[in-house]
Amino acid sequence: MNSKKAQPEDDVAIPGLDVAKAKRYSRTKLAALLLSTLWTLARLAWFASDRRAARLQASIASGIPDRRLAAPAFFAATTALSWLSSLPVAYFGSHEVERRFGLTKQSSRGWLGNQAKSLLLGVLLQTPLLTAAYAVIRRRPRDWWLIIAGASVPLTVALSNLAPVLLMPLFNRFQPLRDEALAERVRALAARSGVRISDVYEMDMSRQSEKPNAMFTGLGNTKRIVLGDTLLAGFPPDEVEAVVAHELGHQVHGDIWRLIGFGAGAGFGMAWLLSRIAPLAVRRTSEQTGVSELADEASLPVLALLMTAMGFVLMPMQVAFSRAIERRADRFAVELTRNGEAYARAMEGLAAQSLADPDPPRPVVVMLYSHPPIVERIRAARDATAQIPQ
Ligand SMILES: [Zn+2]
Repeated sequence: MNSKKAQPEDDVAIPGLDVAKAKRYSRTKLAALLLSTLWTLARLAWFASDRRAARLQASIASGIPDRRLAAPAFFAATTALSWLSSLPVAYFGSHEVERRFGLTKQSSRGWLGNQAKSLLLGVLLQTPLLTAAYAVIRRRPRDWWLIIAGASVPLTVALSNLAPVLLMPLFNRFQPLRDEALAERVRALAARSGVRISDVYEMDMSRQSEKPNAMFTGLGNTKRIVLGDTLLAGFPPDEVEAVVAHELGHQVHGDIWRLIGFGAGAGFGMAWLLSRIAPLAVRRTSEQTGVSELADEASLPVLALLMTAMGFVLMPMQVAFSRAIERRADRFAVELTRNGEAYARAMEGLAAQSLADPDPPRPVVVMLYSHPPIVERIRAARDATAQIPQ
């Protein structure tokens, strides 16, 4: 089958996984990601150069009598333009590829409808945030980075609380899990792990994707377990339970807070670096952009370019942190259910249904993988079972 150098992964064959197809899928996704990244860099550079952003800003300002509305109007317009110019590449990378590999049954129209909702949310959220951020930059030229990074922490917490209640119902339908026997098992498992949940829900994830999934949403009183219909359809109860146990692991370990903490740390670092580099970059490019001050709203594309570049540096650290968290939740799941075999089979089912690459190239894992490669997770689950004292 695979004649290249023997890797430890080779001893794990995943039942039901079409390896050649999975390889093709991951290569195509990688190419799509590369294309979309280059496209983002190119359109930002294009928008910044030849004074395009500055000219757009000036023409919007001249058409609006109230000067206070000029900045929000400019940000709303750039958000919409950015959405529009990224649409063709997004269509290819996140819809067409999925459709061709049989990983979504969503129609192009349905996909576009979701994109339109995202645009609306983007404009509603980004316009006030960008307006406020630039007001801070203008008024606090020395410590704006500290204020913005500081303010984004409670904003992130608030948004991750509100998203399941306000945003997610815009895209999917939720209802209490109809399989009462399974719901009872899940509740018992949660109780055993000491996690308090309000209820167990199911969600029509198959609207967007065939990939099976489960998650926790909400905090405090609204904390709930949500199971995808894609998971419920293809997985026996003990495997569903194993997947839920993994999610419970995240809860027990407080991983949401860890991720928010990591994000806040990265946010402060990035904002500080930006405060050193951005004013210089804006001045250096003023000939082409027609923008000489960072506080000028038309500096947005230059700022976005710098942030994209920083994102590349941050990415491997972020995903390494995430992989460590995921590994621990995997271990927790096996210990809680005392059924590593069910966990391993759930992961195999997940791999087959999501076309997971059984041995992704190491650099790709380092750069992009938020979870350990699936074969590692399967092997770890079987190894852990052997170690559980009976
Ligand atoms: Zn996880």
